[in-house]
Amino acid sequence: MPIINENTVLNALRTVTMPEEGADIVALNRVVGLTLRAEAGGAHVRFAIEVDPRQGAALEPLREEAERVVGLIDGVLSVAAVLTAHRPAPTIQPRQAAAKITLDGVRHIIAVASGKGGVGKSTTAVNLAVAMAANGLKVGLLDADIYGPSIPRLMGLRGKPELNDDKKMVPMERYGIRAMSIGCLVDENASMVWRGPMVQSALVQLLRDVAWGELDVLVVDMPPGTGDVQLTMAQKVPLAGAVIVSTPQDIALIDARRGVGMFRKVDVPILGIVENMSYFLCPHCGERSNIFSHGGAAAEALKLGVPLLGEIPLDLAVRETSDAGTPIAATQPDSPQAQNYRAIAAQVWATLERRD
Ligand code: ADP
Repeated sequence: MPIINENTVLNALRTVTMPEEGADIVALNRVVGLTLRAEAGGAHVRFAIEVDPRQGAALEPLREEAERVVGLIDGVLSVAAVLTAHRPAPTIQPRQAAAKITLDGVRHIIAVASGKGGVGKSTTAVNLAVAMAANGLKVGLLDADIYGPSIPRLMGLRGKPELNDDKKMVPMERYGIRAMSIGCLVDENASMVWRGPMVQSALVQLLRDVAWGELDVLVVDMPPGTGDVQLTMAQKVPLAGAVIVSTPQDIALIDARRGVGMFRKVDVPILGIVENMSYFLCPHCGERSNIFSHGGAAAEALKLGVPLLGEIPLDLAVRETSDAGTPIAATQPDSPQAQNYRAIAAQVWATLERRD
């Protein structure tokens, strides 16, 4: 039978960070009244988290996260956490709940998202960003895929970002765009274990503490999926729209539908769907052959009432250039693939400008 004690619970709670203070709730002595009631098979856990009463409502996600992490401990039968008043620190100003992060010099922020991993979301985000720059725009690319940052690899980024005089990180310039990724700051594997609130503060840092400068568009490569983390990100960032990447297979389309639903829930317009690995382009003869469920995204886009932005083939050159850190839209600008990405980029930009 699993043995749970106060320490097991406190250890789990060390992963929950107070957003204002940047330290965990155990280190800040905010966990009070911890009780464990043993029962056959485990224990029921109750505790309170002391917070500034002016922040009560804004800290509801923190309370939920605390419950969630304790609930994951083997043998915890039930968990209940409540927020309780903590003596307010006079210097802390009240903050609005889920306040959006603003970026002054950036005209439009767009998300590239997918309902599940492995559909080519990051490859599409990189090539779309590079293609927008090739179309004459000032473009930034933010890798918000905290759990599996792949932009450094796909863009061939090396080294750590430098700090400017204002102590802001200078984005890495490559292929005509400015890029920043959590993968440039921490070890790729270290970021895998991050939990909700830490993910949020990392995102805030990547947006606010980076000297993005003047940009026409900032492309955000979102973590795959439609869970709480993605939803909160979509809420926190002032997104002008979202591009959903999907493969033509039915199962991926169900996920794409969830992606569309998630952004609609938080009133972020869907710019359209990109069908990736849509058909097969023979590397020898250049002949196109359709994959068994080719066209699925087109049908789905129609059903959902969103545009189909384009179809990207399953193509060896896309994969090789992507995995080698030399995105095809930048390194083979005359190829049909690069032209395809530029056409998608132009459509996205036209939609953004129409909305202005
Ligand atoms: P995600 O961000 O959705 O997890 P990636 O962009 O990392 O997906 O792509 C997953 C793998 O598929 C990578 O090896 C990438 O090179 C490959 N890939 C992506 N798009 C294509 C494509 N159109 N043709 C061939 N391979 C692709």
